Amino acid sequence: TPDPTLRPEPLPEDHDRALRPQMLSEFIGQAEARANLRVFLQSARQRGEAMDHTLFHGPPGLGKTTLAQIMARELGVNFRMTSGPVLARAGDLAAILTNLEARDVLFIDEIHRMNPAVEEVLYPALEDFELDLVIGEGPAARTMRIELQPFTLVGATTRMGLLTTPLRDRFGIPVRLQFYTVDELHEIVSRNARLMGVPADPEGTREIARRARGTPRIAGRLLRRVVDFAVVEGDGTISRALADSALTRLGVDHMGLDGADRRYLQLIAESYQGGPVGIETLSAALSESRDALEEVIEPYLLQQGLIQRTPRGRMLTQGAWTHLGLEAPRPSGQ
Ligand code: ADP
Repeated sequence: TPDPTLRPEPLPEDHDRALRPQMLSEFIGQAEARANLRVFLQSARQRGEAMDHTLFHGPPGLGKTTLAQIMARELGVNFRMTSGPVLARAGDLAAILTNLEARDVLFIDEIHRMNPAVEEVLYPALEDFELDLVIGEGPAARTMRIELQPFTLVGATTRMGLLTTPLRDRFGIPVRLQFYTVDELHEIVSRNARLMGVPADPEGTREIARRARGTPRIAGRLLRRVVDFAVVEGDGTISRALADSALTRLGVDHMGLDGADRRYLQLIAESYQGGPVGIETLSAALSESRDALEEVIEPYLLQQGLIQRTPRGRMLTQGAWTHLGLEAPRPSGQ
């Protein structure tokens, strides 16, 4: 293993297992969700039953996968992971379900992207821990019922609205994850810097937290990039000045907006006089998928009060004009 004091090199993006909180007590932020989960986990443990099916929803990078893993660890059961788009056929899901042990956690990421035929198979599994499989075809086809071990499904979605009602109704515990506060992100960035063995001033880690778009995944990524600059162009320490110049060079502005966010705001300002403008129009003009706009870009701009959603489309707020350093057009007095 490399000596962390000699090589404060950033860990590769997905190699952050050491940084991922392992238990609920190490998980920072999401206080309300955490408090409720603690009760449900303890109750399931005391009753010796599988915990109720749980659905995490909210923008990417807020900790849905991390919380699902924590649940399995807190329950002392196996963690199995798959995703909606990966489960192409009913048989794929059946294979996973029949291999679960009692009370295991099955995590399905992007559960809103599950094939309807696969989703059908999931309903009786969730409700009665049973699988109804059709064997054979045509007149010889028959249904076979397979008993499953009781298990906990943990679903994650960035788009609650795209879940079918029957699927949504089968989750006893829906949990909405919120953007993190700067204080919470500061705790996360400080902890990660410590675990990576990187010396950092509190003002330096705070600058990263402030510009992380309310999202732990982004905080982690920005920290690794700032470390790169600290190692190559600084003295290895994350100071405020170093963090500021590194983040600015990475195109992350003082509010934490990146190039894609600013392109979105600038388009509405410059081509549509601040809106309202429809999402399809924005998607075409920016060459970004509508999903990417709705799942990734807009939630944070809405939360920061930079845009509004109206029935006629998206509009900039005064805050956005100020942030862009532009003058809002005068109302045209119609
Ligand atoms: P999601 O599944 O919502 O997209 P993840 O659970 O994969 O998000 O988390 C993204 C990254 O952020 C991971 O590297 C994870 O370790 C980190 N992370 C998420 N939430 C927290 C938290 N509360 N404290 C510390 N790190 C976190």
